Amino acid sequence: METKYRTHTCGELRISDVNKDVILCGWVQKTRNMGGVIFVDLRDRYGITQLVSENDPSVFARETVIQITGHVQERESKNKNLPTGDIEVVLSDVIKILNSSITPPFTIEDETDGGDELRMKYRYLDLRRNIVRKNLELRHRLAIETRNYLDKLHFLEVETPVLIKSTPEGARDFVVPSRMHKGEFYALPQSPQTFKQLLMVSGFDRYYQIVKCFRDEDLRADRQPEFTQIDCEMSFVEQEDILNTFEGLVKHLFKTVKGVDIPELSRMTHADAMKYYGNDKPDTRFEMKFVELKNSEPDSPLLWRGAGGEAFKLFAEAELVVGICAKGAAEYTRKQLDELTEFVKRPQIGATGLIYARHNADGTIKSSVDKFYNEEELKKWSVAFNSQPGDLILILAGTADKARKALSELRLEMGTRLGLRDKNKFSCLWVIDFPLLEWNDGDPNVLASLAGRWHAKHHPFTSPKPEDIDLLNSSPGEVCANAYDMVINGVEIGGGSIRIHDKKLQAKMFEILGFTKEEAQNQFGFLMNAFEYGAPPHGGLAFGFDRLCSLFGGSDGIRDFIAFPKNNAGRDVMIDSPSAISDEQLNELHILVKKENHA
Ligand code: ASP
Repeated sequence: METKYRTHTCGELRISDVNKDVILCGWVQKTRNMGGVIFVDLRDRYGITQLVSENDPSVFARETVIQITGHVQERESKNKNLPTGDIEVVLSDVIKILNSSITPPFTIEDETDGGDELRMKYRYLDLRRNIVRKNLELRHRLAIETRNYLDKLHFLEVETPVLIKSTPEGARDFVVPSRMHKGEFYALPQSPQTFKQLLMVSGFDRYYQIVKCFRDEDLRADRQPEFTQIDCEMSFVEQEDILNTFEGLVKHLFKTVKGVDIPELSRMTHADAMKYYGNDKPDTRFEMKFVELKNSEPDSPLLWRGAGGEAFKLFAEAELVVGICAKGAAEYTRKQLDELTEFVKRPQIGATGLIYARHNADGTIKSSVDKFYNEEELKKWSVAFNSQPGDLILILAGTADKARKALSELRLEMGTRLGLRDKNKFSCLWVIDFPLLEWNDGDPNVLASLAGRWHAKHHPFTSPKPEDIDLLNSSPGEVCANAYDMVINGVEIGGGSIRIHDKKLQAKMFEILGFTKEEAQNQFGFLMNAFEYGAPPHGGLAFGFDRLCSLFGGSDGIRDFIAFPKNNAGRDVMIDSPSAISDEQLNELHILVKKENHA
């Protein structure tokens, strides 16, 4: 690491370097004045080295950038927590101040006193902190290992354009006005989907790209308006080939970056994921599967009825009565149960109430609905839930969608409370056989004009399963797709599909999605035309790279794994963006309509 400025970095010197004369550069993190002798922590990207000086302490103001020359000596009191903790550098007189620093707005240490917003505003200072820098080092490692793995398998990294065409069938596009083409706009890509398919038509066969994508969506903790994908596509493959190739990628990343061996990924159909976890991205680090006491199938279980027939109105009126068994939670206090009830009643969760049954240590079962169910009936519940003495059964009732969604949240909450969601444990699976279409009755993340029609669950280029093509006309909602998601610890890490490569089928798909022929031709004519020149069968997927990084880093949010992220309101508070632009710019972009002056 030697350069004209330094002989070593601040993380490099060891006991074997004792007696060397060295030159170091870095930032002053901290000083301790011990009556004439000053100890300085000098920091750079690689670590911290302790300096010993008898100089005037004023040269060591926090965050000053200095260059020092000195002599390495063994420390009297060693610091086991620091790789350089066996040595210190005794300074000669030469201390060069490379640049001074005004007092930083927060302390640049692992435990900082700076709040979120302040650290975002001074992100370049936050990035000096070990924790944040380590996240970006992890991101770099994951990118390198991704490239290593895919390169070995003959994938080519190809860049696709960032100024493309608006096709608002997915989320909302970010658009860029064109100066040279009045009234026309580019759009930023939501993903390079159509381009990677065109590359397959071009014969590229195996493509990937670590690429920025842009979606104008309402923000959530794990969403950013711009984010990064590992985007991949392959020709002459079936779903099985894709699953195997990218299962391999994830195993490679876990092995090389975390030293963890991941077992073969299990596979779960979308229907099972919904039935047993109420969620298409189930957290399978723990079981706690859903058990239905009543559903809308003709052979619905009758466990909800009890001896009193249909006496319990809530269950009688519900489309679905469904519960989970929380192991070892029978001792939950009244207060804890009230908390859970409050939890499911929160507007975001939307349940009306929570029914519970305690399987006590003495084998008796006591429920919150004892009025309607005798001990014998509750024993039948216990069998259905496979509860053991000490377990707590929690039940919700309502319409199928709502009850499943709410129970899924409660299951995750119980998983957290019972310590079953260990960040160092990884449970990876494929969710397969997604429905091709879903009915849009007003998704806030797409244009209002798309409500009241079928929406592609994955995207409009996804192929129906060949055996389901006949259902496209009669019951589109039942058509299954060759589409798959990779889910790790309850997070959708990646997803993709086998694509349509036939012009007629693609046109049919647009028709089902409510496009007129002209609209389809206008927006996607380039792709359908390309399909007429020998498009190979192909498919692919994309991983959310930021999410993958945060998962590997053991964090819930992606922000800390992005060098310069936006805040929760989608703003970059450091550069203050988005921002107004001048009238002159607006004018040039044909956006400012000047009022005529009729004086
Ligand atoms: N383009 C898709 C997405 O962004 C991924 C894929 O189908 O390959 O979700």
